[in-house]
Amino acid sequence: MSKTRQIVVGILTFASIVGAQEPARHWAIELHGGAGDIQRATMDAKTDAACRAVLTQAIQAGAAVLSKGGSSLDAVESAIRILEDSTLFDAGRGAVFNAEGKNEFDAAIMDGSNQQAGAVAAVTRTRHPISLARAVMEKSPHVMLVGEGADTFAAEVGLEQVDPVFFFNESQWQALVRQLKREGRPVPPRPVGAPPPPSPAPGTVSAVGSPEAHRFGTVGVVALDLHGNLAAGTSTGGSQAKHPGRVGDSPIIGAGTYASNSSCAVSATGVGEYFIRLGVAREVCNLVRFKGLSLQQAADQVIGTELVALHGEGGVIALTSNGELAWTFNTHGMFRARLVEGDKLIVAIYPDEP
Ligand code: ASP
Repeated sequence: MSKTRQIVVGILTFASIVGAQEPARHWAIELHGGAGDIQRATMDAKTDAACRAVLTQAIQAGAAVLSKGGSSLDAVESAIRILEDSTLFDAGRGAVFNAEGKNEFDAAIMDGSNQQAGAVAAVTRTRHPISLARAVMEKSPHVMLVGEGADTFAAEVGLEQVDPVFFFNESQWQALVRQLKREGRPVPPRPVGAPPPPSPAPGTVSAVGSPEAHRFGTVGVVALDLHGNLAAGTSTGGSQAKHPGRVGDSPIIGAGTYASNSSCAVSATGVGEYFIRLGVAREVCNLVRFKGLSLQQAADQVIGTELVALHGEGGVIALTSNGELAWTFNTHGMFRARLVEGDKLIVAIYPDEP
């Protein structure tokens, strides 16, 4: 064989080996809108349909990014911004109130390709906390900013600032008042600038399920792009009637949010205190990476066994860079949706759905 022919054959062989090793890539995206006491029996058909419509709109926004070859980070952020603008979930305009009648937001985003992360806690004026988390990751040397400093940073980098009353949600306000009265705690004055209370006092239907149910409603997204990169993001108003300054698991990297291309991407929802103590998101990824569990096995073990042992409630969505998807919850329901390139969209709420 001539020298030139040998070189050509060598190049072709090398190319075919590389080609053979290249996994067939499909983009994938999965999201949640919180887990909790969400049951068919207490959910009215209108709310059920409205929640499914917003989940669909959000996942399609993320899918539109991914199908054009966009990054998983962009997909996560764009889907979460839609959920933050909805009044149906505990994030952005649907957020719960703290015990002082204020909204305080937590959010995080993580890039699985390089394990960079950004997070914010207890912000009050930034319309899209998920975008602020991303700005912390990309435009500051830090991983986490909190409170006033975080909102000020948001303004400095040009993110939309709003009067906190922008987030006022009548249904969440009534739920707060009911909880505080039930628990014999002081009820704060109605926020300045909020619309006058509707008369008669709003009915018994809440944004997500029965009014007295333990409602989580945090939103989260995990995505895999055509470049094989994972990302995860979570955004929340936290827990209803929380102590001012309380921070949940959502913005804690490794607890409520985590992404690494070498294991998986996870976003969690549930009673944050337990998720922090267990380091839920990282725990799922570690079981995949170091114990060789399938993603679903890992998620089930953490939520169905380890979290239950601590009496914690909630769920996770998860995705690997091979496109393996999982979700699981130990509550009555979890708002969730998934879409894989070339497959049918799945939107579900109750445990008997796919
Ligand atoms: N995990 C959130 C928190 O504890 C609440 C939720 O998921 O709804 O702040």
